[in-house]
Amino acid sequence: QEDIFKNVISHAKEYGYIFPSSEIYDGLSAVYDYAQNGVELKKNIREYWWKSMVQMHENIVGIDASIFMHPTTWKASGHVDAFNDPLIDNKDSKKRYRADVLIEDYCEKLWQKAQKEIEKAKGRFGDAFNEEEFITTNPRVVEYLSKKKTILERMAAGLDSGNLEDVKALIEELGIADPETGSKNWTDVRQFNLMFGTKLGASADTAMDLYLRPETAQGIFVNFLNVQKTGRMKIPFGIAQTGKAFRNEIVARQFIFRMREFEQMEMQFFVKPGEEMQHYDYWKETRLKWHLSLGLGNENYRFHDHEKLAHYANAATDIEFNFPFGFKELEGIHSRTDFDLKAHEQHSGKKLQFFDNETNSSYVPYVVETSVGLDRMFLAVFSKALQEETLEDGSTRTVLKLPSVLAPTKAAVLPLVKKDGLPEVAREIIEELKWDFNVAYDEKDAVGRRYRRQDALGTPFCITVDHQTLEDKTVTIRHRDTMQQDRVAIAELRNIINEEVSM
Ligand code: ATP
Repeated sequence: QEDIFKNVISHAKEYGYIFPSSEIYDGLSAVYDYAQNGVELKKNIREYWWKSMVQMHENIVGIDASIFMHPTTWKASGHVDAFNDPLIDNKDSKKRYRADVLIEDYCEKLWQKAQKEIEKAKGRFGDAFNEEEFITTNPRVVEYLSKKKTILERMAAGLDSGNLEDVKALIEELGIADPETGSKNWTDVRQFNLMFGTKLGASADTAMDLYLRPETAQGIFVNFLNVQKTGRMKIPFGIAQTGKAFRNEIVARQFIFRMREFEQMEMQFFVKPGEEMQHYDYWKETRLKWHLSLGLGNENYRFHDHEKLAHYANAATDIEFNFPFGFKELEGIHSRTDFDLKAHEQHSGKKLQFFDNETNSSYVPYVVETSVGLDRMFLAVFSKALQEETLEDGSTRTVLKLPSVLAPTKAAVLPLVKKDGLPEVAREIIEELKWDFNVAYDEKDAVGRRYRRQDALGTPFCITVDHQTLEDKTVTIRHRDTMQQDRVAIAELRNIINEEVSM
């Protein structure tokens, strides 16, 4: 698995998807730049999300709020007082870790052990296998899963009550070692606030302390009434937004999974109090369907319902994805009650209520939110798409099987040779197609090598112009995943490509 992850990182660099930030100065930890192909993939994921949330829902509109917000926002939201991560250092290696992540990783291993037993039993029992029954009756699986549950509950209790000694005790009792050095010599656990601070204004005495937003959600809450009134929105309705968020993450060693500057795609849905659970269930199902629609394999997703809830939530789940380093959170779906709007009412002194014409009364709506990290989506898509295939002739090829709707370049146009007027015809085809799709031109190397390069870049189609093209205006179109080649008329190209790549 580690090798797969290394491959993902080096492929992302080699093929112009992701570069380390300011690499000529040896980079900046947990900060990355999207390169020429990465920026297109990222944009397509954002658009795929936006389309499904805003365009496809009559009652959802979008906004683009600023990264800077009035500092009281973060007092009201609870971030100033409670947006902390529990830190622990290893005394020997001097490496710093998140105590909760160390414990969660330990639990993930228990889950994997249980999973292994389940797989083995599946093989033994075949069609007669009843997974639900097996999970609740097989002694080993029961032990792994109940141990996992107890550990997570104890950790949550320690973190919630501020009883950090117990979190440290848990790490010691479980014998958790520094993942890099194996040392078990730990410091105490302490809390660390994740917000980045900065200053607004030039002169020292009038400057105002600001934060870079650690989530996009608050920009939506403070605009709730502006949008509701100017858009004449009726409850239930939603506000969607994509944008940068910043967190001074302690442990940031997982490439773009956990960055200090990242992008979120969030939607807050405002509902009538008492009706939040039906909306929560709807969004849980709808968001999972959205992920599955990308075809990366249904077995790579699972829900993780929170047993312990944050202070603002009355129901919460994560959609977890099977990343190269195991199942981890990809998206959060939370029923946040009226916590945020009420807190902003209190701190601002302004009413943030919906006036219901039908009942002639006002109320503070409840909120159900869906929050997915754009960079994590990128990593999910990219890491599952990257495949090594052994072909019939025994050779191997590296192919990036990106969902076609998300691929940065939809087609590459390749003249078979660099003469006889073939490049000119290829250019003409590009002139036609570029109004609708990103298309690339490549004439370097033998055509077989060019195909391989486009496979590795994730381009769904290669269009080859040869001598027959000059006679009958047909080309070959090669499909990335099947490598099948068809002879088609140039005039048909747009429709063929469109059919596969349109959102
Ligand atoms: P985690 O437990 O992994 O730190 P979180 O529960 O703090 O995540 P939320 O505050 O719920 O995350 O944020 C919503 C989404 O934003 C997450 O599901 C994730 O996809 C994304 N996200 C959060 N922190 C980061 C980060 N540091 N880098 C990249 N994406 C992030």
